[in-house]
Amino acid sequence: MTEIVAGAAVALLLFLGFLGVNVLPLVLIGVLLSFAYLLWERRGPTAAGRVETPVRHRVGFDEIGGQEHAKRELMEALDFLRYRDRIRQLGIRPLKGILLAGPPGTGKTLMAKAAATYTDSAFVAASGSEFVEMYVGIGAQRVRELFRRARQSARREGKDSAIIFIDEIDVIGGRRGAHSHQEYDQTLNQLLTEMDGMQTTSDPLVLVMAATNRIDALDPALLRPGRFDRIIKVDLPDKEGRLHILQIQTRNKPLAPSVDLEQVARETFGFSGAQLESLANEAAIIALREGKDRIEQSHFRDAIDKVLMGERTGRVPSREELRRVAVHELGHAIVSEIVRPGSVSHITISPRGNALGYVRQVPEGDTYLYTKDQLDGQIMVALAGAVAEELVYGNRSTGAQNDFEQASRLARTEVECGLSELGIVDAENLPQKLLDEEIRKILSSLEIKTKEMLERYRPVLEEFSGLLVQEESLDGDAFRAQLARRDALSHAG
Ligand code: ADP
Ligand code: MG
Ligand code: ZN
Repeated sequence: MTEIVAGAAVALLLFLGFLGVNVLPLVLIGVLLSFAYLLWERRGPTAAGRVETPVRHRVGFDEIGGQEHAKRELMEALDFLRYRDRIRQLGIRPLKGILLAGPPGTGKTLMAKAAATYTDSAFVAASGSEFVEMYVGIGAQRVRELFRRARQSARREGKDSAIIFIDEIDVIGGRRGAHSHQEYDQTLNQLLTEMDGMQTTSDPLVLVMAATNRIDALDPALLRPGRFDRIIKVDLPDKEGRLHILQIQTRNKPLAPSVDLEQVARETFGFSGAQLESLANEAAIIALREGKDRIEQSHFRDAIDKVLMGERTGRVPSREELRRVAVHELGHAIVSEIVRPGSVSHITISPRGNALGYVRQVPEGDTYLYTKDQLDGQIMVALAGAVAEELVYGNRSTGAQNDFEQASRLARTEVECGLSELGIVDAENLPQKLLDEEIRKILSSLEIKTKEMLERYRPVLEEFSGLLVQEESLDGDAFRAQLARRDALSHAG
């Protein structure tokens, strides 16, 4: 078809040229038109190809860990699709849009897929960023296309409902007029028009689900009744949730009997579902690298380090340097055990990311509030690295820069939260000089305390640092056992 048109056009041009007509403008127009056509043609099929995600593996709610509350809320909302006849009979306004709000990697996409399985609906997905193009009108056209595809897939699959999932809805659903680009507005308007036109009686019934991590940035028009009027919050998992996700993500993996997923869950405070998935995968890769056919607890430990700190670096410190790093890290670890017994999870001196070594602490449960004692304790743990170096070597190194930043940050928190000697302060109007002085006071008095604490452990520092250089890393339990043995000896003696 294209070839025939092009051929005819060339023939016509030749004929006109033959008649002595100036064909140059026509040639230019022709070139422009065919260029535009090519663009359009290229766009058409790709747009269609992108909006549809064929669901091969059907995701069920049982594959989503944690999120019990969100799951329950979502299932309740979905009952309107499962019992649509009763809903219609009672004259209940149909639910058209469900918004899943929460940080990345918490399972929002999974939930939308599970919703399609649960309601036996066709599923089509698109991401907000796919609607944004340089050409005005393309976004709106893609929205229309998406809704058409949803209905088509439902019919083709013999289902009487379809779920449309729009990820990153904030990209198109930002406040209208907030940006100068009218493309966004047109796309958003088209989405609203499509949703307003959706009928309860229509077959197939369509439900729009969307996800965002910036709900505050959404145009209020999107959240009005009849649009996304059901908002479900999907948060980072708590410890129970993390355990559940880890169980799900290791279902297909051989675990050694020693593996304690509960322990892993405890040490992964703040991890999202996606990070836990990658953790389980990393653990398996480490096991493979070591030639093991089961995943062991130590593989999980190294995988946590990797997810938190990055790959191990290839750089090899000198033996003297290693010894100093060991002393430094032991300082952190000893004080950590004194201020919060049982808190050391793992000490290592193998360089990773841009750290030479580090002590990983068991997170303080799922805690959101801290007391002054806890903050003081954390500051002392941070200062203890440099203090230990000073005790053993009589001087400090540059390795403690991060520690000092962390200690200052914690001290600032104390001042700003009214926990310092200044009492309650207006953090915003506090003179910088006063703040600095108070921070310095807190740090220097805690530094003295830390020194007193570590003084008694100087022999331990000397002795353990050799051990740590040899072993490269020590588990919290092994470290505590050694410490207890030392303590018993020194009490006896
Ligand atoms: P979001 O859409 O919230 O960014 P996804 O649903 O895309 O998150 O999650 C990405 C991947 O992370 C999933 O495919 C799954 O492997 C894992 N994941 C995330 N959250 C969970 C969860 N709650 N339970 C189990 N796996 C999860
Ligand atoms: Mg997602
Ligand atoms: Zn340190």
